[in-house]
Amino acid sequence: MQAQALDYTKYTLLIVDDNPTNLSVLFDYLSAYGFRILVAPDGETGIRRAKQARPDLILLDVMLPGINGFETCARLKADQDTREIPVIFMTALASTEDKVRGLEAGAVDYVTKPIQQAEVLARITTHLRIRDLTQSLRDANAHILRLNRELEDKVRERTAELRRAYELLERLDRKKSDLITLISHELRTPLTIFLGYAQILQQVEEVQHNRFLAEIAEKITNNAQRLQDLVQAMLEVSRIDQEFLRLSPGPVHLNQLLAHIHESLLPILTQRHLTLTCEALDQLHVIEADYDELVKVFEHVIGNAIKYTPDGGRITVSGQNLTQDGEPWVEIVVSDTGIGIDPGSLELIFTKFYTTGEINLHSTSKTRFKGGGLGLGLTLARGIVEAHGGRIWAESTGYDEATCPGSRFHILLPVHFKGQSA
Ligand code: ADP
Repeated sequence: MQAQALDYTKYTLLIVDDNPTNLSVLFDYLSAYGFRILVAPDGETGIRRAKQARPDLILLDVMLPGINGFETCARLKADQDTREIPVIFMTALASTEDKVRGLEAGAVDYVTKPIQQAEVLARITTHLRIRDLTQSLRDANAHILRLNRELEDKVRERTAELRRAYELLERLDRKKSDLITLISHELRTPLTIFLGYAQILQQVEEVQHNRFLAEIAEKITNNAQRLQDLVQAMLEVSRIDQEFLRLSPGPVHLNQLLAHIHESLLPILTQRHLTLTCEALDQLHVIEADYDELVKVFEHVIGNAIKYTPDGGRITVSGQNLTQDGEPWVEIVVSDTGIGIDPGSLELIFTKFYTTGEINLHSTSKTRFKGGGLGLGLTLARGIVEAHGGRIWAESTGYDEATCPGSRFHILLPVHFKGQSA
């Protein structure tokens, strides 16, 4: 690749030489190429000129009156203002020692006298090119450094913004939790009274003997019961949020616990033509856990399997003992042949009030196909499992109501309790 020709008119050269003939020859030759030429007859004047005019290159004679060329060069290199200016020595001395001295004093090159004009021009051109390239590299470097600094400033700004947004969200979340707790507390007492009266109403003889009234009383009771369950779930979630969940651990036989839940679900399973199979649960370790809280976990997870599996489907609960980090664990997997879960929602379903069901199907039956709830069941389940030191997660290849790919919920619990006791 051919280097681009230099535009010599852009450059200023300083020639330091006490020999007028030499000076005028170089002056004439180089000005003819367009260079701006400055001259100095001795080292001291040369240094002064260089400081004032900042030439692009200096041609420096070695033998000068007063301080010699080596000394002049060393002083130019020691000065912040002139140290970057390339210096080419002009030496009549052909000895290697002098060339080395010149280079040691900070020169970039030398030419020997008598000066060959073409050679001097070639060397000047080379060193101006190198100087320009060095300058561009330095500029590019400075630019990158500036960009880097700007980027760092931006990242710092964004981090601060994110922190502010996060703090705001946290405050809002706390406010939401407080509000939920407040509302739930306020609703609890009237609801209990409401439910109590509805149940009394169901016992009244006149109501029992009147089908219409009996149906109304039953509907009031069922819905009041459902409302009470929701309020209870909201209270439990806010307790988990505020880390108030205290557990009472004791020995738990998971096969018995799950058999209990299975039994209580038999009428619903029959009604929905669903089969629930428990596999390999009797060989599971007895674990240290809060029985009542674990019942809620499995009621929610198996309840969901029922809700999101169409009639005629299958639900399987299987278990296995595991060792992780040298400690014993048990894993229960609840799988179903239901509508499945979109991979993008597998984590979201554990967040508060997250539900993919249609809102108008909510607050209907707890067991009806796709009869969604408030979106608190899995939040509660995760809160309880994690309070035990365990883990819960969902797996599914996708959501499809036509092909029903199914879902699998894994619940991993430590055999030795790892949570906080009451
Ligand atoms: P919900 O009260 O809406 O059932 P959950 O917290 O129990 O709330 O569940 C959150 C969402 O997770 C549900 O709305 C549903 O979309 C999805 N989901 C939970 N379990 C299953 C399952 N077994 N199959 C398909 N989707 C499920």
